[in-house]
Amino acid sequence: MTARGKWVFMQLDPVVTLLLNLGMGGEALFHRKGEPLPGNCQSAVLFEDGCAFSQHFWWFGYVHAVKTAELASHAMTASLGLDPLDDGEFTLDAFDKVLQEKKRSAIKTVLMDQKNIAGIGNVYIQDILFAAGLHPLRKTADVTEFERRVLHAAIRSQLQRALELGGLAYEKDLYDQPGRFKDFLVGYREGKPCPVCGTVVQKIRTGSTASFICPHCQT
Ligand SMILES: [Zn+2]
Repeated sequence: MTARGKWVFMQLDPVVTLLLNLGMGGEALFHRKGEPLPGNCQSAVLFEDGCAFSQHFWWFGYVHAVKTAELASHAMTASLGLDPLDDGEFTLDAFDKVLQEKKRSAIKTVLMDQKNIAGIGNVYIQDILFAAGLHPLRKTADVTEFERRVLHAAIRSQLQRALELGGLAYEKDLYDQPGRFKDFLVGYREGKPCPVCGTVVQKIRTGSTASFICPHCQT
């Protein structure tokens, strides 16, 4: 099993790969032989030995069975950008190149576009931008070299930490266990003090998404 951005790739047999994307969230659970499938499951893979793998999508999602030899032409995954968890790929140079190409856009928009970097959603972007001292609407062209370095490190450390903790408390792993990531710096902390300066954290609208910011630390 491998992952790229929000997509999981499972080689089911020598010729078929199952591609799964939970969209805005959901459960993908493994079931041992004899265990019933959850009542809310919307799709499932039943294995010959009696085990199963079920999916439930909160809003939307994708389950695609693709011939492994044709994976490169699967449009939704072929266009994915840099993998921030791949140290060899997500280098500072590669990151700089992406920001250079998108310098007219707001930094949050650039980071969330899966064609640029695959895997940053609206949950984890909040503390990433806070760690770099960047307002979500900062024009990418105005992000300094120092800020780019801090931002690059923040993306890696934030995603790595979330991964190690198994995601958020309302998310579950393959074995139905909840995640342990809960200590946001500013994310979802509207009205509470900024952990650095004490200024009240604000929730603002940024395009089609909500952002949580410290108006003093993020400019
Ligand atoms: Zn602050």
